[in-house]
Amino acid sequence: MSIRENVAAIRAQIEEAARSAGRDPKEILLCAATKMNDGDKVRQAVAAGVDCCGENRVQELTQKLAEDAYRGAPVHFIGHLQTNKVRQVVGKVDLIQSVDRMKLLQCVQDEAARQGICQDILLQINIGQEASKGGFAKEDILPLLEKMGQFPNIRVRGLMAIPPICEKPGGNDKFFQEIHNLAVDITAKKYDNVSVEFLSMGMSGDFEDAIRWGSTMIRIGTAIFGARNYGNSHH
Ligand SMILES: *Cc1c(COP(=O)(O)O)cnc(C)c1O
Repeated sequence: MSIRENVAAIRAQIEEAARSAGRDPKEILLCAATKMNDGDKVRQAVAAGVDCCGENRVQELTQKLAEDAYRGAPVHFIGHLQTNKVRQVVGKVDLIQSVDRMKLLQCVQDEAARQGICQDILLQINIGQEASKGGFAKEDILPLLEKMGQFPNIRVRGLMAIPPICEKPGGNDKFFQEIHNLAVDITAKKYDNVSVEFLSMGMSGDFEDAIRWGSTMIRIGTAIFGARNYGNSHH
């Protein structure tokens, strides 16, 4: 299957999942998770109509930006971001989805202030409380949002979550539901400069469940580009 056919198939699945949940499919953005796929593949995904591209690694981001591979689609950063690489990401992407710790939040603020810009971000939540994953604890989100006035060059536009890997359908529903409830709480509180426009959850294996729980952005790699070949990669 070509990238174009894969994107069309995913759109059909989004439509179906949205309708069965009583939602408008247009509310759900399709973010192509482009890691380990080259500029040419990224161009094909953009041409096939994905809503945005999400990059995981700074080196790949820099390279594909230089190739103008994302032209026509917003670029998001979705991977673990080291603080010493913040300068290569802030101001270069439309949204940093993976702000997962206080130290990174402060570094993004400092860099955005230095550049004189406002950087849009999502707060990443470690919803399964996994030691191997970054992310704020769910309980820390509301207290943090109270303090966003201390980060004037950052605008929080929502939440991102990567639940544990789960094979069985519906296996992550409990996590998606928790994120959904948190989003409802945040919206009700009406914090300054904070919205939950983006609820970024759902990947190739579980996006239909995520859509049932209110996801407004699914991040899809494998189902668009095929399996990633980690075997001969350099990392
Ligand atoms: C790779 C990746 C995805 C996409 O995963 P697939 O299972 O290939 O769809 C989504 N989000 C993040 C943060 C990723 O790193």
